Amino acid sequence: MTSDSTGNKVPDEGLYGHPTERMPVLFIGHGSPMNAIEENEFVSGWREAGKRLPKPSAILCISAHWQTRGTMVTAMEHPRTIHDFGGFPEQLYDIRYPAPGDPRLARATKAVVSDRIIELDEKWGLDHGAWSVIRRLYPDAGVPVVQMSLDYYQKPQSHYDLAKELSSLRRKGVLIIGSGNMVHNLAMVSWDHIDTPGFAYDWATEASERMKQYILNGDHRHLIDYSSQGRAFNLAVPTAEHFLPLLYTLALKEEDEAIELFNDKAVAGSLTMTSVRIG
Ligand code: ZN
Repeated sequence: MTSDSTGNKVPDEGLYGHPTERMPVLFIGHGSPMNAIEENEFVSGWREAGKRLPKPSAILCISAHWQTRGTMVTAMEHPRTIHDFGGFPEQLYDIRYPAPGDPRLARATKAVVSDRIIELDEKWGLDHGAWSVIRRLYPDAGVPVVQMSLDYYQKPQSHYDLAKELSSLRRKGVLIIGSGNMVHNLAMVSWDHIDTPGFAYDWATEASERMKQYILNGDHRHLIDYSSQGRAFNLAVPTAEHFLPLLYTLALKEEDEAIELFNDKAVAGSLTMTSVRIG
């Protein structure tokens, strides 16, 4: 129960939707924008993951590709499809993912976060970190999607703490998805291995193995402190934005929940597609 402006008790379901079973949480390694249109093992993995999910009332996606000053959530009725990349085939720019927005979820997200002001955004939409993946989970675009931005002024611990505040949305049928890549160093991509999934540099393998160990052991501390974990991590996470969505996903794990990995493979030497399902 919460209180309204006159101090009267009102049921929590008045905030957003009705209570539901706790929805799972995902982290998706999204990789190349071409995964939006190509057929490959990763796309199959996303599709399978989608089939195994209960139908959500809406999706809240934290994508590597929306960084802002302060934290924002998209609050428009009809988010546009953003083609935030260059140099790809025309076919990719023709894709539209017409999932509706969910202004009520945007307001509910703002309401459940107490330690900072979440701003409602009317300008963004769905970037490829969101739509390239979600169109494989829900090809009919029937599930409303809201994006939450990454505040690039915040430290990793602060992102993790913010994510914990989103927990109650899981019991309102909201599927929370972090979309990034655990190992993501574009400057070191091996173009000779672009079409041979599985190839990884030694440092990428080391970082990936240690990350997975921390994830499966529930050792979030080392992951939040990723920048203090030595050379392999420094090469695997040269900038924060593709790694931080993982922290949002992990922060939402409750003690009794199972955790599993899928699409656990490297591409092009310096990226991993490793994805996580919680619950
Ligand atoms: Zn990306």
